[in-house]
Amino acid sequence: MARPKESAAKSVVILGGGIGGIAAANRLRRRLGSQHRITIINRYPEFSFAASYLWVMSGQRKPSQITRPLAGLQRRGIELVIGSIDEIDPINRKVTVQGTEITGDHLIVSLGADYSTASIPGLDQAGMTFATLKGAEALGSSIAGFDRGKLVILTAAPLYRCPAAPYEAALLIDAMLRRKGVRGQVDIELHAAEPAPLALAGSNVSDAVKEILRQHSIDYYPSHQVASAETGRISFTDGETEKFDLLGYMPPIKPPSALSTSALAGSTGWIDVDPNSLLTQFPGVYAIGDNTNIPLKIAKPLPRAGVFAHSQALVVADNIASTIKGNSPTATFDGHGGCFLESDFHRASYASGNFYADPSPKVKTKPPSRRSHLAKVVFEYNVMRRWL
Ligand SMILES: Cc1cc2nc3c(=O)[nH]c(=O)nc-3n(C[C@H](O)[C@H](O)[C@H](O)COP(=O)(O)OP(=O)(O)OC[C@H]3O[C@@H](n4cnc5c(N)ncnc54)[C@H](O)[C@@H]3O)c2cc1C
Repeated sequence: MARPKESAAKSVVILGGGIGGIAAANRLRRRLGSQHRITIINRYPEFSFAASYLWVMSGQRKPSQITRPLAGLQRRGIELVIGSIDEIDPINRKVTVQGTEITGDHLIVSLGADYSTASIPGLDQAGMTFATLKGAEALGSSIAGFDRGKLVILTAAPLYRCPAAPYEAALLIDAMLRRKGVRGQVDIELHAAEPAPLALAGSNVSDAVKEILRQHSIDYYPSHQVASAETGRISFTDGETEKFDLLGYMPPIKPPSALSTSALAGSTGWIDVDPNSLLTQFPGVYAIGDNTNIPLKIAKPLPRAGVFAHSQALVVADNIASTIKGNSPTATFDGHGGCFLESDFHRASYASGNFYADPSPKVKTKPPSRRSHLAKVVFEYNVMRRWL
């Protein structure tokens, strides 16, 4: 049988230089010859690894250790455009970046999610978020100077990036205060908008996380939706109020602004994709990571997590490379993924499984161990040293 013939030079344009975008670009570069162009467009010239923000908060990392210039991609033959994407025309596979039009034979949309902190009046003034690098650093400094009172961790909406992160934040703060010898003088409360920790993963996982919180004397208040906040006080939608001395929060998210005028946005404002191929309704246009809406069998969306953005990136890159080489695209994203939950400075639990399982995700959790903590360190190492 004759080998399929590789097509003439093609271009792949990747929207967003976060976890999904960078993983896709690297994989494509390895799969495709240098005649094919791979371009990544990102608003900012630097990448920072969000999964390590909480290590910045806890003093285990400096911001410079988890930040890299995207320009490093150019050494690998990946073209880089720094600028804000204002419009996406999926029919013509064309994007407009500050007035300049860029067209690709294939588009991969990986623009993440925008924060909508302003949807909770007073929240940004009342507390600090650990969901940005600057916020995590600032909260860490405040905790370093905090030795008495009530510290509240809040999830400001049920939908946010990384379901484990607020729980991890509470546990790492507990570890920071213990190390300082002031834990006995600080009450830690976690008020969550969602009904249970990592609820999508099932009650086994939720119960395991609740037990870890209990062992660390962190008081947990689920289904407690914040309505507004002011200095020292939070008001909840059930009419209750809570005083605090220090507030750290996970902000709500909304679809990235570049989607607001694009036909790519589905009825939810996020991008609808085929759950296995990540292809949108537009030929040659794929979407991966946080900006997608992938309903699970339990009618909730696949969690926003870097581990999924990464796996999806590899599937999409492999299928685009196959198509360009004249082969059938056969790679499939099967819904498997895992999530680390750091429980102190040296140990993490690990919940992993199949989120596409029917009738509900099948996820198992491993109790806190040094091994899982080291696995997260290795993941971080690979991203920071091998991707950029
Ligand atoms: C505190 C915290 C801890 C986390 N921990 C973990 C963890 O342990 N494990 C895990 O799996 N996940 C974790 N996550 C989630 C993970 O970071 C995200 O799910 C992941 O980054 C999603 O990848 P992405 O490529 O979809 O989006 P992103 O990584 O957010 O990348 C999107 C990129 O698009 C760019 N962009 C957006 N709009 C435009 C525009 N208009 N023009 C140009 N560029 C634009 C952005 O600047 C950004 O660089 C964590 C998140 C947070 C906040």
